[in-house]
Amino acid sequence: MPRDIPALPPAGGHCLRGLALMPERVAGQWPGLRRRLRQAVAGPALAAAALLAGCAAPGGDTLKIDRSVQAVSHSSRVSVVVLHYTVSDTPRSLEILSRRNVSSHYLITDETPPRIYQLVDESRRAWHAGESEWYGRSDLNAASIGVEIVNAGPVGKGWQPYPDAQLRALIPLLKDIVARHQILPRNLVGHSDVAPQRKQDPGPAFPWKTLAEAGLGRWYDEARAAELTGRYRREGLPPMIAIQEKLRRAGYAVPATGMLDAETRRVISAFQMHYRPARHDGEPDAETLAILDSLP
Ligand SMILES: [Zn+2]
Repeated sequence: MPRDIPALPPAGGHCLRGLALMPERVAGQWPGLRRRLRQAVAGPALAAAALLAGCAAPGGDTLKIDRSVQAVSHSSRVSVVVLHYTVSDTPRSLEILSRRNVSSHYLITDETPPRIYQLVDESRRAWHAGESEWYGRSDLNAASIGVEIVNAGPVGKGWQPYPDAQLRALIPLLKDIVARHQILPRNLVGHSDVAPQRKQDPGPAFPWKTLAEAGLGRWYDEARAAELTGRYRREGLPPMIAIQEKLRRAGYAVPATGMLDAETRRVISAFQMHYRPARHDGEPDAETLAILDSLP
């Protein structure tokens, strides 16, 4: 038997309802199988009996699963990529992310050249995002891939830069992940984007614009933002409730209080760290509003 033609499943050991959905070209490989399919879908009673006999398979002490037929319709469970900085150095980051109750799928070290560790299989849930929300979806660990980058974060009054060597490791990794899981540009985010009340990583030193220039992530129309900045300066900012709505439409979990409260400030600061890192004080200003209006 040619290797690419799967073996006929044993009679009674297969769910006939599943066989009925088999593509014609596969079913055509087995004489008599089409007839069995027709019989299986001919009457609900027969199909139900087949379901009981084949799928539930009580009494058998060996679980038989036939994987010779694979569905054409399916997609990745992963829809978001979350970037982090570790704060700790490489040995300690490795220790924490592999031996404690936090983890990430990937870790990019600060060695020369940087090394990319995979600590968790992509089919498994890594524990990196914690309480989080993006475009109304919470519990992002269930639907995301976490990438930790060895970086100290806040250092003195500034932030540790991300060396080019790390970006040269990060960018191909992200391109690979984004392509395999069909990640939308807006869903490549920082921990601070999805948990703005608790987190600041990957911080304002992270070069989101460089990533965007490499075709990764969401960026804004800079010409339009420059024009709108002038308009907001001349005409003033919209009311706070409208600003909160714009942030919500950009994906952020933000209260709808109509006030510049502490929570809203932290969301604005997270937005600024991503798109306007030169000033991320959480103060809504003309340029921040113009960028919000210029996102794709
Ligand atoms: Zn983080």
